[in-house]
Amino acid sequence: MDVDTRLAEDWVRAIAAAVEREHERLTELDSAIGDGDHGSNLRRGFAAVLVALDSPDSPDAPAPDGGPGALLTRTGSTLISKVGGASGPLYGKAFRAIGAALPPPGQPSADAAGLGEALAAGLRAVRDLGRAAPGDKTIVDAWTPALDAYREAVAAGAGLPEATAAAAGGAERGALDTVPLEARKGRASYLGPRSVGHQDPGATSTALLFRALAEATAA
Ligand code: ADP
Ligand code: MG
Ligand code: MG
Repeated sequence: MDVDTRLAEDWVRAIAAAVEREHERLTELDSAIGDGDHGSNLRRGFAAVLVALDSPDSPDAPAPDGGPGALLTRTGSTLISKVGGASGPLYGKAFRAIGAALPPPGQPSADAAGLGEALAAGLRAVRDLGRAAPGDKTIVDAWTPALDAYREAVAAGAGLPEATAAAAGGAERGALDTVPLEARKGRASYLGPRSVGHQDPGATSTALLFRALAEATAA
């Protein structure tokens, strides 16, 4: 199994479905330590991504022959333009970086190791823009253990389904591990020590994103 356009589209659709299912929970988490809009921000963004996928003539639609890279790059651009909160530019840049790291049409598509490099480029984009380090109670705290688990699985010989399942587990553990942390970036940092004891909304949505990737590779 390789990273083809079908897999990229399945991934994005699985994220949109997860956000639709979980947006109230994301908003609840953001109400505790932020401004209560994380679920609605992502819902608006991924709804726009679906509209673009389903209307090939729209200016937001990915080029039909652009391969998985173009689809994910386009997804990122839509998130940047449609989501106002911190998470829009962060996830938007991440998807643009993942898309740019995948081979263009005409070249052999990425295998499990190649997707690992693309996911690493996504994390670099989040860190370059947001300047958050591990332990700051952000998206980085789910993405980092997801990538570590993914790479470990690939090093042990795993293919895409197994490696992405390992990444999803890593992201979910990372999201839970944000509970005792004090936020040092984003709105939650305004609360200082009062942010302790709450799960970070962005780390939680990152876990949805990696679980959706595992679902897409298992399909
Ligand atoms: P806003 O805070 O602008 O309302 P959202 O509610 O959509 O945006 O997203 C909040 C999430 O964004 C936080 O839970 C956190 O995980 C993530 N976040 C905020 N700032 C940063 C940052 N500098 N780096 C990484 N992630 C961040
Ligand atoms: Mg918010
Ligand atoms: Mg907001």
